[in-house]
Amino acid sequence: MKITANNPKRKSWLLVEKKSDFPIQNLPFGVFLTKDDVITIGTRIGDYAIDLAALQQLGYFEGIPLAADIFMQDTLNDFIADGLTTWRLVRNRIADIFDLENKKLQNNKKHRQVVIFSIDEIEMILPVEIGDYTDFYSSKDHATNVGTMFRDPENALLPNWVHIPVGYHGRSSSIVVSGTKIRRPLGQTIPQGASNPVFGPSKLLDFEVEMGFITTDANKLGKAIEVDDARNHIFGMVLLNDWSARDIQKWEYVPLGPFLAKNFASTISPWVVTLDALEPFKTAGPVQDPKPLPYLVDEGQTSFDIEIQTYIKPKKQKETLVSNTNFKNLYWSIAQQLAHQTVNGCNVRAGDLYGSGTISGKEKTSFGSMLELTWKGTEPLIMSDGSERKFINDGDTVIMKASCKNEDLKIGFGECIGKIKKARTYPKEKP
Ligand code: MN
Repeated sequence: MKITANNPKRKSWLLVEKKSDFPIQNLPFGVFLTKDDVITIGTRIGDYAIDLAALQQLGYFEGIPLAADIFMQDTLNDFIADGLTTWRLVRNRIADIFDLENKKLQNNKKHRQVVIFSIDEIEMILPVEIGDYTDFYSSKDHATNVGTMFRDPENALLPNWVHIPVGYHGRSSSIVVSGTKIRRPLGQTIPQGASNPVFGPSKLLDFEVEMGFITTDANKLGKAIEVDDARNHIFGMVLLNDWSARDIQKWEYVPLGPFLAKNFASTISPWVVTLDALEPFKTAGPVQDPKPLPYLVDEGQTSFDIEIQTYIKPKKQKETLVSNTNFKNLYWSIAQQLAHQTVNGCNVRAGDLYGSGTISGKEKTSFGSMLELTWKGTEPLIMSDGSERKFINDGDTVIMKASCKNEDLKIGFGECIGKIKKARTYPKEKP
């Protein structure tokens, strides 16, 4: 089925500013709360949020097989479970409804009033109920930087890294939507040279620039998803800030890997941009040498050209750009990640989230964490107000933005924002 929604010539009758992340060719999916306290599934064009449940009730999705309440949900999970054909039919239809040439809704004021909201009138909520969360470690530059700092510059990459999309199972209960304030975690750390740990607020709080993809329920327990089929089971992508407490991580990670240093919060952007919308921005990923085992071979335009900027905004100050990286830097593709996740028969479900791992490039300005940007705190960054940052301070806001551009089009992800609140009172209150 053709993705007619992607026609770059199409214009909407809704105003879209040139710099907007959300032209009519994007049409992401999200969940929002209206000013009347109604939760609905929606999409976005320019600075307008569109209520898909209202559109369906008014008959605009006629001819598409959909459950009557599919958009009257507080998560996208059921819609995601409907699969690729339905996602594509709905997105194509939305593009048609809001096309400048189509007068049906455009000339119906009564309908417009119940379907269209200003983005300032609504509140975005977490778009999916995330069942399982996997975080990969798929940027070669990031893995090399971390290996150089913590192990051995000569053998920075462990031998398995070029053969396996390395990952771990994370925690889904603490994944929050952009805008949610993040409390600095308390935990155990080991002071330099000490033989016993201390308890208190993390001193080395960091962000990780990542993107995540969301799957549908694609395979039964015991079956695998083939790498060539994997993209058909991926609904879309979001920005992901995988907050990390480096001092807690350093003490706890041996031998089983990340635990409390990672699970206190992860932030995602609220609009899920479909893989269909990203189609015009497909590009080759890095050359894979050695060639992966046959079940992981994925060739051609396996990646996407998505630029990602990260800013730190100190309290009451202007933001400073600290990282400028690109999704295409990732060594392992999303299809390879999903094929690997399921090769042993592990089943995935609608609404599962898969993080890319920190996305770093070769240049210092393209590193995806403060750990790398300040090289373990030895080379602080200077903010626009003159203050120094080794890691993230209380009151700082971390802002991530991502977009794809070509000569016709800009498709963006909006923002992924989190502000750091000071740690819980300690030790008066028990953890
Ligand atoms: Mn991570």
